[in-house]
Amino acid sequence: MTFSVKACHCDGYRAAVSDLPLSGHLRECALAAKGFMPADEGDALFAAATAAGRCAPGLPFLEVGSYCGRSTVWLGAAARACDTVLFAVDHHRGSEENQAGWEHHDASLVDPRSGRMDTLPTFRDTIHGAGLEDVVFAIVGRSDAVAAHWTSPLAFLFIDGGHGEGPARLDYQGWTPHVAVGGTLAIHDVFPDPADGGRPPHDLIFRPALESGRFRLQSATGSLRVLRRV
Ligand code: SAH
Ligand code: MG
Repeated sequence: MTFSVKACHCDGYRAAVSDLPLSGHLRECALAAKGFMPADEGDALFAAATAAGRCAPGLPFLEVGSYCGRSTVWLGAAARACDTVLFAVDHHRGSEENQAGWEHHDASLVDPRSGRMDTLPTFRDTIHGAGLEDVVFAIVGRSDAVAAHWTSPLAFLFIDGGHGEGPARLDYQGWTPHVAVGGTLAIHDVFPDPADGGRPPHDLIFRPALESGRFRLQSATGSLRVLRRV
């Protein structure tokens, strides 16, 4: 099924992207949250989501990979600015690199009862502290399992979940078909140079999206890529 966005002002899109910095309390909340989203990329994410929300009024945003809610605050603020909502999908058990013994492990995020990573309490604190509970809705579960039951077209899709080959391929297959025509796909941790980071987001999400002919590159900030569904 293809969903078309009416009244999409494509000419205004670029202007809107550069127009809208997030400032004040919400940006401070984002920067104070644990996570992996650099400030300039978070600002670019906010601007892209805000522009996308204006091009696709009424359609929701969705994030895959929320961790402790850092990127979620930028996206939730954009959702609020666009009178829409953000679904934040994460099993909250951490990616491979978040597990004990790996580079990005944070022992304070281990639940002592289960002995497993649990970022959900910290995520809730972040969203509560930002005052975004009315627009950000957590979906706790495996991304591919949630995607298999998803039906709503999306104004904005942000993929920042598992960076292994399996999860990246499944996120591409499961989620990108839900981006509405005129909507936006943003991908994090896209590294054209293998020396800078892992391959799957680049090889299994970014490149297939471009090569499918369904998406056109809109902007790049650090490892963030913003693509428009054409
Ligand atoms: N966007 C966050 C960082 C996300 S880290 C920020 O701005 O800081 C990646 C997240 O993806 C982790 O929280 C991990 O639990 C989640 N994740 C990894 N694979 C997943 C999968 N298959 N399904 C759901 N969540 C997954
Ligand atoms: Mg990331």
